[in-house]
Amino acid sequence: MIRVTVWNEYIHEQEQEEIRRIYPEGIHGCIAGFLKKEDDIEVRTATFQEPEHGLTEEVLQNTDVLIYWSHMRQEEFSDEVAKRIQRHVLNGMGLIALHSAHYSKMMRLLMGTGMTLRWKHDERERLICTAPYHPIAEGVPSHIDLPREEMYGEYFDIPKPDDVVFTGWFSCGEVFRSGCTFTRGLGKIFYFQPGHEEYPIYDNSVIQKIIINAVRWCRPVSRKMGQPDCTQVITTLEEEYQKR
Ligand code: ZN
Repeated sequence: MIRVTVWNEYIHEQEQEEIRRIYPEGIHGCIAGFLKKEDDIEVRTATFQEPEHGLTEEVLQNTDVLIYWSHMRQEEFSDEVAKRIQRHVLNGMGLIALHSAHYSKMMRLLMGTGMTLRWKHDERERLICTAPYHPIAEGVPSHIDLPREEMYGEYFDIPKPDDVVFTGWFSCGEVFRSGCTFTRGLGKIFYFQPGHEEYPIYDNSVIQKIIINAVRWCRPVSRKMGQPDCTQVITTLEEEYQKR
């Protein structure tokens, strides 16, 4: 089983009636709901207001893939927990950062760049698959149209991605690297732009398929890899061979 923790800030849904109407169970409840239907995935959820934001050492030790949505409380998020997430990713935990989580503390730590972008509300997006060979794109159409989405535009200040699996085109003429993969330490990371809270993006079956594919893609290859080490070599491989 792939052990997934869906983390959502869960502020918009509690404070704004119109957003609660779109996600009555919260964005985390919506995402957990469709993931639970998969036989190989088990899901728990956590939110900002829980102690340690619900992301204790024990929770992360028992998480293969962390899915993360944030927006309103980026600066109030605990530095300690952000560093804890970074450490677990370096040790192999998969990470899927959604929409405005681009500017979360943990993403800024992991990417090392400004993570800034340009934005504009209420545009139409055409999400185009620009790496059809990638496992995250398996079974996904060449493009899908999202009738209403927040525009995110370039320049997006990220390090050079391993792959740009999806590129977004918006009706105001902007383009964006909407689905990017990165590797940090032993951890695989997928950043995925669609998911502004005012529109029911996570109810879209293709968006759900992409997130399910991403969970399977970024799961740790093997838990036995353990922590990357930094040990002195006492006997070289050459010496080992000469002894045989
Ligand atoms: Zn947004």
